[in-house]
Formats: sequence, structure tokens, C-alpha cells
Amino acid sequence: MTRCKSCGDNWNVRATLKRYTTSAPGMACPYCGETQYLSQKYRERSMFITLLIPLPILIQAFFDVHLEGMIVLFVSAFLLVIMFHLFALEVEAEEEDWRNRFYY
Ligand SMILES: [Zn+2]
Repeated sequence: MTRCKSCGDNWNVRATLKRYTTSAPGMACPYCGETQYLSQKYRERSMFITLLIPLPILIQAFFDVHLEGMIVLFVSAFLLVIMFHLFALEVEAEEEDWRNRFYY
């Protein structure tokens, strides 16, 4: 679950879903009110996990999969992406960008 970096409370599902419907870069924590931003690590991971959705098209190109199988693959990939976004959302107290990001 999503944990606020300022107060340490876990966000509930409703707050996590609200984060996805908010287009602003930051969102106030429902418990302490401090603005929280999506972490860089989460943004990178979500980009890769979203690539799972077109993966069944590649599978179709190499294997003979029936329509029912393709529907199951698409629905599975879609549910996997939804579950990832619900449970892997990470927030930071400060907005990370190229100016304040540490390089190791
Ligand atoms: Zn908080």
C-alpha cells in the first residue's frame, strides 16, 4: 500500500484511486495534509509494467492463440496492471526531477 513519507500512515484504496484521477503533480495526504508526489522509482516501474498490455499482441504474432485465449490474455494483463498501480504506488515528500535527483 501507499505510505505517506511525512506521517507514515498508509493510504486507503480511495486515496490511492484519487491519486490516479488527479492530474496535478502533487496530492495532499488524506491524514496529515502534506503534499506528496509520485516517486521517480514508481514512475519508472509503472512505465515498464504498462508495456504488459500490448504483450498479448506479440504473443499472437509468434503463437497460434484462439480468440478466447487472446481475450483471457488481455484481461489478465489489464488486471495485472491495475493491481500493480493499486498496490505499488509510492509517494515522496519532495518532487523528484533532474534538479534534485541523486545519481550514484
Ligand atoms: Zn501524511
